[in-house]
Amino acid sequence: MSSTLALIFIGVAVLFILGIKFLSSPKTARYGNLLAAAGMIPLLGSEETSLLKHGWNLNYTLMVVGILIGLALGAVGAYSVKMTAMPQMVAAFNGLGGGAAALVASLEFLRRAQNHDITTSVAVPMLFATLIGSLSFSGSIIAFLKLEGKFERPHTFPGQNFLNGLVLLVILGLCGYLMSGQPNATAFIVMFVLALLFGIAMVMPIGGADMPVVISLLNSFTGLAVAGDGFVINNLSMIVAGTLVGSSGTLLTLLMCKAMNRPVTNVLFGAFGSGGGGQAAAAGVAGTVKPIQADEAALLLAYAQRVVVVPGYGLAVAQAQHQVRELSDELGKRGVEVQFAIHPVAGRMPGHMNVLLAEANVPYDQLQEMEAINPSMDRVDVCLVIGANDVVNPAAREEKTSPIYGMPIIEADHAKTVIVMKRSMAKGFAGIENHLFYKDNTRMLFGDAKASLNALIAAVKAN
Ligand code: NAP
Repeated sequence: MSSTLALIFIGVAVLFILGIKFLSSPKTARYGNLLAAAGMIPLLGSEETSLLKHGWNLNYTLMVVGILIGLALGAVGAYSVKMTAMPQMVAAFNGLGGGAAALVASLEFLRRAQNHDITTSVAVPMLFATLIGSLSFSGSIIAFLKLEGKFERPHTFPGQNFLNGLVLLVILGLCGYLMSGQPNATAFIVMFVLALLFGIAMVMPIGGADMPVVISLLNSFTGLAVAGDGFVINNLSMIVAGTLVGSSGTLLTLLMCKAMNRPVTNVLFGAFGSGGGGQAAAAGVAGTVKPIQADEAALLLAYAQRVVVVPGYGLAVAQAQHQVRELSDELGKRGVEVQFAIHPVAGRMPGHMNVLLAEANVPYDQLQEMEAINPSMDRVDVCLVIGANDVVNPAAREEKTSPIYGMPIIEADHAKTVIVMKRSMAKGFAGIENHLFYKDNTRMLFGDAKASLNALIAAVKAN
């Protein structure tokens, strides 16, 4: 490799890494995205990469048509997707990435098999990329369907783990056979199909609720498959980008599990949401539910010194981000200090609340992470919980038998008054009763978050 090319690759790797770094803050996330995308441009033209390396032998018309179709589908999808359907979209894109990586490696394997040109060293990355990419593809499709509400509940049967283990053993056995330099296309296709089935079997027993974690894990698989492809077609940029996606996806998976206080094995094999490890029903929770009307809630807010808003999944469902910003501005005009407490797994994907609030231009300095705000929650006059449930459930602290026991929460119950805005007494994602709703200092403002916020804004303005 020429030194100029080496420098280009280092520069590209730096752009990718900076891109990921910038993605970690809402302030810089957009630049991060642009930087990483910019990193791809020099690669298209670099001698080592597919486009120019293959000279003019490539079918450029077909490529341009493919790129245009991809661009159109991606742009239409990204513009039209609802915020609440974002996890599905990530699942779909991730699945396509995994499938593409598996196809690149498979076609290369079959081509070389035809030419009897397979050695162990080339077979290893090809089989790795095929196996990981195809199970990521089929697993992501199941994750997508579960998020769409199809067969959401964990599908388990006795001996399932044993059967899955057996399928995995057969796959690995076939890989071992193919690695020993056997250019056997039939064995390869059987391995490919079994890997697809294994992806389905791996995700089916996991509850729809755990899909964001599964998608993050499958995303890291897709990254690794792409890195494997990089070795197959000798493309350094794919190795760098794939490894970065693989490692960041793994870290994200672990961080999400940590924020829920559940080991990753519990997510993968615990069938969370199947109703098994249920806990105290409403009858077992001490206290009573005390409703409040918007007028009275508005008075509490308007005359508070410090208000903390805890947004959750319901805010995204109601698409009430602009209303919450308007209420915050209105209170700000009256000299009330308003902050937003962001739980790391509020909503249905990491950063969900940040993206939602950024859409309504809520100033970043009003956003506080859970660890930063919790120590001062007892100095909050009103904590306004909007469509959040599990992330403020004190059962995580108080109820040893609760499935969410040990999960870090926003200590909303420490505020002087808590106003919870939701439509009913329905449970949240974890399917468990929320002790906060029954506390002495809690009032329930029932209704759709958008309608309730509009009523609050009008009432605050009138005061
Ligand atoms: P949550 O526990 O799912 O609760 C959301 C609440 O919003 C529901 O109780 C629902 O009650 C209410 N709601 C729904 N639509 C509404 C509307 N239109 N107006 C007002 N309220 C509405 O949400 P969360 O507190 O944000 O917790 C997130 C959960 O997702 C956690 O359990 C977390 O572990 C899990 N999770 C998150 C991620 C992630 O990356 N963010 C990943 C994996 C798992 P009503 O039906 O009564 O209105």
